[in-house]
Amino acid sequence: MPPRILPRGPRALSSRSAVWVHVRPQRRFASSSATAPEVYDVVCVGGGPAGLSLLTGLKASPITSGLKVALIEGQDLHKSRLPEDATLESFSNRCSSLTPASVKNLQEMQVWDGVTDARISFDWHTAKPLLTPRNPSQPTTIAYMIENVNTVTALLSRLEQLGGVDFYTSTKVNSIDLGTDTDKMDFSSWPILTLSNGKTLAARLLVGADGANSPVRTFADIESRGFDYSRHGVVASLKLEGQGWGGPDHKIAYQRFLPTGPIAMLPLPGNMSTLVWSTTPERAAKLKALSQADFVAMVNAGFRLSPTDLEYLHTLSSGQAEEVAWREKHTPVDEHAIPMRVAHVQDGTVASFPLRMRHADTYTGERVALVGDAAHTIHPLAGQGLNQGQGDAAALVRTISHAVQTGQDIGSTLALESYTSERYAENNAMLGVCDKLHRLYSVESGPLVGLRSLGLRAVDAMGPLKGFFMSRAAGGS
Ligand SMILES: Cc1cc2nc3c(=O)[nH]c(=O)nc-3n(C[C@H](O)[C@H](O)[C@H](O)COP(=O)(O)OP(=O)(O)OC[C@H]3O[C@@H](n4cnc5c(N)ncnc54)[C@H](O)[C@@H]3O)c2cc1C
Repeated sequence: MPPRILPRGPRALSSRSAVWVHVRPQRRFASSSATAPEVYDVVCVGGGPAGLSLLTGLKASPITSGLKVALIEGQDLHKSRLPEDATLESFSNRCSSLTPASVKNLQEMQVWDGVTDARISFDWHTAKPLLTPRNPSQPTTIAYMIENVNTVTALLSRLEQLGGVDFYTSTKVNSIDLGTDTDKMDFSSWPILTLSNGKTLAARLLVGADGANSPVRTFADIESRGFDYSRHGVVASLKLEGQGWGGPDHKIAYQRFLPTGPIAMLPLPGNMSTLVWSTTPERAAKLKALSQADFVAMVNAGFRLSPTDLEYLHTLSSGQAEEVAWREKHTPVDEHAIPMRVAHVQDGTVASFPLRMRHADTYTGERVALVGDAAHTIHPLAGQGLNQGQGDAAALVRTISHAVQTGQDIGSTLALESYTSERYAENNAMLGVCDKLHRLYSVESGPLVGLRSLGLRAVDAMGPLKGFFMSRAAGGS
């Protein structure tokens, strides 16, 4: 059953389509609940990378480790872990490039020690055209390619080691309401959560780390604005021909901007690689329906053939492998400027996700804070979404620590204010840059096409962008 969330503001509810919102009297919770809610300092809804990072940060710090904390996650968190018998022959299709700033944060929380490092690839050259020219003798690590499941497994292990978190996993939030003024305590400004297991929890601070359709954001009546790109990101785990990206000198991420969106191949250990191909929903559906051989041919073609060739290939329901082989013979390419050829696609890894741009009006309300995709959703072309969530989690830990140290109520709007001011402008700038890059490269006619056809130099010419991505990658602002 979808969560039944009551926004607490006075505004109309009909605009919230993502979650089934049911209007009911505000005091229903108190009149119908037989037992008193269990009281927590922090209740975090969502055990994705952002929520787990926040809780680990709170428990790893002596200032906040004493807070009474609960995590509610709808999925079974045991299934979110890397299988113990995982081999380097297969990888999850949900991989992210972690920036050095995110890695530093995970190191400080001693989470990085738990990451299975044989499954990480270092990428010296992400967004190469945006950054300084390549210098193999002095490589700069721009990103660490890692499966999301590897990050989540390490965060869960560290949290278990630290202890002190009540886990409610495979448990959904059914409703969130405001409490009432009782004999024992005034809960009238407190979110009261009713869980699918029948329990009720009262949160001094409720954190929404519950993804793009955040029920917590709906409860807080925080508007999230934006649009759909009418694009899907097709992902897959790929095996390259030969040794693949064997040596450190070859750890290169490739991204080609096609009129429908960028196709990116990012290095994984050995001869494995991960694909993110942003394209129209129709083309994404066609790619997913292809045989493995035809899918592999299309990915190779995506880096080698012209947009006109690709357009034709997308009209075929099968037979791409033969067609691409023939067309490639007649298309000269500089093999040094493109990724190695894909030989196979790993079974069951071709999937797609709708791409959206969303930004909440604010990240905080009374007794509520939003982190990660609950607060913002970004186009994946610069691989920033998960990293933004890591930055949010670290900033919220700092805000809560400060409130604890100065004796403030950690759920008060005053105490939470610094969190929004620290993160909002930073995230907004990144959302804007990625959106503009998408638009610049998606135009099919008009004056921008000339600029785009300059290829890499076009972006390189946007001087400040280079510095922008470099400083964000390193954790600057
Ligand atoms: C194609 C693609 C490629 C990407 N590549 C990159 C990349 O290279 N680098 C990068 O940094 N980012 C990347 N991203 C973005 C990144 O994957 C997301 O930003 C990140 O996973 C969001 O993490 P989160 O913890 O905020 O939310 P989520 O991972 O969405 O977690 C939210 C959690 O909340 C739980 N939940 C929701 N509602 C309820 C409820 N009612 N009750 C209980 N639990 C609930 C869900 O089960 C879920 O586990 C990519 C995204 C896409 C689509």
